[in-house]
Amino acid sequence: MNDIEKTIDALNKKGFKAVIATDANDAVSYVISVIGHDDTVGMGGSMTLFETGIVDSLLKRGNTIYSGELADRCGQDKNEVRHKAMTADVYLTSTNALTLDGDLINIDGTGNRASAMFYGPNKVIFVAGKNKLTANPHTAVVRIKKVACPQNARRLGLSTPCATENRCTDCDSDQRMCNVTVRIQRPTRGKEMHVVLIDGEFGY
Ligand code: SF4
Repeated sequence: MNDIEKTIDALNKKGFKAVIATDANDAVSYVISVIGHDDTVGMGGSMTLFETGIVDSLLKRGNTIYSGELADRCGQDKNEVRHKAMTADVYLTSTNALTLDGDLINIDGTGNRASAMFYGPNKVIFVAGKNKLTANPHTAVVRIKKVACPQNARRLGLSTPCATENRCTDCDSDQRMCNVTVRIQRPTRGKEMHVVLIDGEFGY
């Protein structure tokens, strides 16, 4: 088994509904098939969901999406939208990292995205490219701080050390993105958790 197959196997054994998507279109088809036409969708900040075309496909179909990023673009109240996302029918997100034995590792600054993953909507869908795969929780956090945080910080216009110096100093910045680290080992009680692992590189 290759790393993608190993991870999918581990996730399914732990109770996730995990599938391999051969490309972005395959990921879109799967996500659309498990979200109802009338479902509201809460969404965590994610480049993967935009890059794959999943967001566009849901909007075209007429699903309402509660997303901080979309709220910013439309001038909506971000906090209000984040609260609506917590009680939507479905929560759609990527994951900062995914271990070969099927743990989902995420770091969050505000905490809305990380908490919605395990204590928000009853159906949660994670979509990630194979570039998010990592050996274990320790290497996952190393990867997040080295690869994801600097790029996310620059995208968000933050001036944390990871953005300005390209290194993590375990900073005291009030713009710090690493205030909470969540390791999801199995679906939490009552939740249906899907993981779509794409055989391609998406997001960071
Ligand atoms: S602790 Fe600060 S410098 Fe380190 S990755 Fe997080 S935000 Fe960046």
